[in-house]
Amino acid sequence: MSERPRRIAVLSVHTSPLAQPGTGDAGGMNVYVLQTALELARRNVEVEIFTRATSSADEPVVQAAPGVLVRNVVAGPFEGLDKHDLPTQLCPFSAEVLRQEARQLPGYYDLIHSHYWLSGQVGVLARDRWRVPQVHTAHTLAAVKNAYLAEGDSPEPAAREVGEKQLTMEADRLIANTSDEARQLAAYYGADPDRIDVVLPGADLTRYRPGDRAAARAEFGLAADEQIVAFVGRIQPLKAPDVLVRAAAEVLYAQPDRRLRVLIVGGPSGSGLERPHALMDLAAELGIADRVTFLPPQPPQRLVQVYRAADLVAVPSYNESFGLVAIEAQAAGTPVLAAHVGGLGTAVRDNRTGLLVDGHGTGDWAAALRSLLDDPDRLRAMRAAAAEHAAGFSWAHTADGLLDSYGRALAGYRRADSRATGTVSAESQARSRALWRRRAG
Ligand code: UDP
Repeated sequence: MSERPRRIAVLSVHTSPLAQPGTGDAGGMNVYVLQTALELARRNVEVEIFTRATSSADEPVVQAAPGVLVRNVVAGPFEGLDKHDLPTQLCPFSAEVLRQEARQLPGYYDLIHSHYWLSGQVGVLARDRWRVPQVHTAHTLAAVKNAYLAEGDSPEPAAREVGEKQLTMEADRLIANTSDEARQLAAYYGADPDRIDVVLPGADLTRYRPGDRAAARAEFGLAADEQIVAFVGRIQPLKAPDVLVRAAAEVLYAQPDRRLRVLIVGGPSGSGLERPHALMDLAAELGIADRVTFLPPQPPQRLVQVYRAADLVAVPSYNESFGLVAIEAQAAGTPVLAAHVGGLGTAVRDNRTGLLVDGHGTGDWAAALRSLLDDPDRLRAMRAAAAEHAAGFSWAHTADGLLDSYGRALAGYRRADSRATGTVSAESQARSRALWRRRAG
């Protein structure tokens, strides 16, 4: 059996595992950090999650579950700081992480797992001080995001690309959500494939299960006899809820009497089409305002009812490192109509558990909607296949994959334990020199 850590420090600067996902900067990463922590704790690995306090009401330390502590670090003003301002707060954040460890007995943490590039920067500092390995998950890559930008969306800053590239080199192991993402890490950032572990994310399969559709609809006051296509997630250009609204409008132009409803669940995030009312304006402009229902972000116990209420869940994103919503919807027995991008190609089995659509053209999306909604037998078969497919994605499975990666990180670290500070510094400086020289060339 591979070596496993007793206690790990999880760094999650901008995503608190205790925040409600589906709005602002809170999304799949929050769910990921919390769910994997719970599973690791069940495997007797203690988890301490460091995140930035975003409210004066945040307690310094919160016990999220047995074996899972959330440390709310004060770094900068509680409110009003956007994700893009956070690089300015990495020093105070790092200082507090280091102080926290310094109050403990030596060797308190066995390993650092950092999430997203901001946390990765803190991780590099801490792992050198603590002499422990760092495992890093990027979650999304700026270079990839910039290559698949939605129209009118602003590109990710160059500083983020630089940071991600440095981490690709510095972290002891890198976790990719899919083999596609592993390839992207190598292609865009020159990551060494031998240091990448592919670990699929999951869904809470005890929560997201098929259930009674009529009861789910009644809970939200939705009609029993309408066809419902739901979008769930942060309302931002990258997630492209407008693609669904336009496609539904096209379907309804051709058949105005058709009983079709679009259900949008989530809150504003990012720039551009970020306000739900901009999406409401679009629906009004297209003449289908009465066919679109908006719901604010929902907690998991209500979200499962949204998935059950829908005939289809649409995930039209321009890029998606994985797309937890696609797995959750399928786990609840609802087929998914998704853009054929990133991790969605893994999350959805084309033609079996849903459809993958190439591009974002209104005509293509309208045709895909019709082809599924007009074929109840096909939809029924997909419902069963969707639940079966999703059963292969559990957080328990993800945690096992993480433990394997941690084991490799620890074993590799032990071998290289001659890492006296001087050696680390010389190696790291040489790597950086090579990296930026390559870049300049
Ligand atoms: N989510 C939620 N309530 C909402 C909308 C979304 O709890 O109203 C959660 C959803 O269950 C999923 C996460 O937010 O786990 C979104 O993850 P995904 O990977 O689909 O997108 P991301 O936000 O990471 O881009």
